Amino acid sequence: MVTIDILLMVASSVAVIAISATYLFFRSVRMRPSNSQSDESLTDMASSLISVLATAGFVVDNSLAVLRATNSAIALGLVSGRVIRSNEIRKLVRSAKDSDSTHEVEFELTLGAGGDVRYLHARAVSIGSGFVLVLVEDSTDERDFETIRRDFIANVTHEIKTPIGAITLLSEAMEGALDDPKQMHKFADSLRREARRLSNLVTEIIQLSRVESSDILSSARPVNIGAVIREALERTVVIAEAKSIDINAKFPDDIFVMGDGELLTVAVKNLLENAIQYSDKNQQVGIGVTTRNGHVDIIVTDQGVGIPADEQARVFERFYRVDESRDRTTGGTGLGLSLVKHISMSHRGEVTLFSQQGVGSTFTIRLPRLVDTSEENTHE
Ligand code: ADP
Repeated sequence: MVTIDILLMVASSVAVIAISATYLFFRSVRMRPSNSQSDESLTDMASSLISVLATAGFVVDNSLAVLRATNSAIALGLVSGRVIRSNEIRKLVRSAKDSDSTHEVEFELTLGAGGDVRYLHARAVSIGSGFVLVLVEDSTDERDFETIRRDFIANVTHEIKTPIGAITLLSEAMEGALDDPKQMHKFADSLRREARRLSNLVTEIIQLSRVESSDILSSARPVNIGAVIREALERTVVIAEAKSIDINAKFPDDIFVMGDGELLTVAVKNLLENAIQYSDKNQQVGIGVTTRNGHVDIIVTDQGVGIPADEQARVFERFYRVDESRDRTTGGTGLGLSLVKHISMSHRGEVTLFSQQGVGSTFTIRLPRLVDTSEENTHE
């Protein structure tokens, strides 16, 4: 998220510098006496300058007729031929025409009948002789990012408050049950579960922000997929044994990808953990590796509860859980698969899911293989 933040800051700084430069340029040109030739070169220069900006822009004359417009201004439907199509911009131009300062307006624009809404920020400045230069930036992505950030913080706050509230209540309940060892055991058990939930949550939030804020590929090293799977198996052996689940693991030891070994281990561990947690006692879980067309597939299968078809696209969203009540007992956070998705994407890969309710699930992490793509082996 920090990366996106920085990119947005850089992008908006570049836009502001470019717009300020354009504005200063035209202010200086405006000081000169006007004649029809300089008016023409004025609009010519305006056109050349707006064409190098990434923003939409156009120049209008005294009667609000559009003289030049960038393709993006036309594509957005802000102008058509010589006419300004947007009421907001028409009003803006009128107010900027006889003024010395830059006038600004923010407004929503619905694109076509489909209703895709864009958030635009328009600036207009008089460039002399009745001409007005209009520059329009599309801030939709920035606003979407801000909404995602706000939702994420609201979710984190809610998710953290839940176990903290439970821990407070349980500690009060324990005080009232000091003479009842059976009750004390029950409360201690619940306390442990809530503490584990809190700890999982904090760990996964930190991991998620690490994946999102760093450029994994710039510090990537060759990673042995066999070593990643072995480590992930080691981290899940306790929960697998607790449910008497046998993990059938078959994988080669000579398959490499470029990336971050610890993050890839977290991704595989999360898939194994889910496979175990959403299976019944004594069921089978499998992990295997296949290579094809320059890709490595790490495949985790289970015979567990499965995921309903209409929920499958959503399970990769942050904090999304199919069955919240079940998650209370597993200590799940709803962040595990979101992490798997981000880790896969940051390695130029992807994660896919095939699942049938009551039959089981198969998750596949596909990564670009490090090598010699001519080789076509399959290991299962
Ligand atoms: P959680 O911490 O709740 O397991 P995840 O992001 O790992 O969060 O998973 C999101 C949801 O997807 C889970 O709450 C669960 O309902 C479902 N899910 C994930 N893996 C499996 C699986 N192997 N079998 C069935 N359901 C699964």
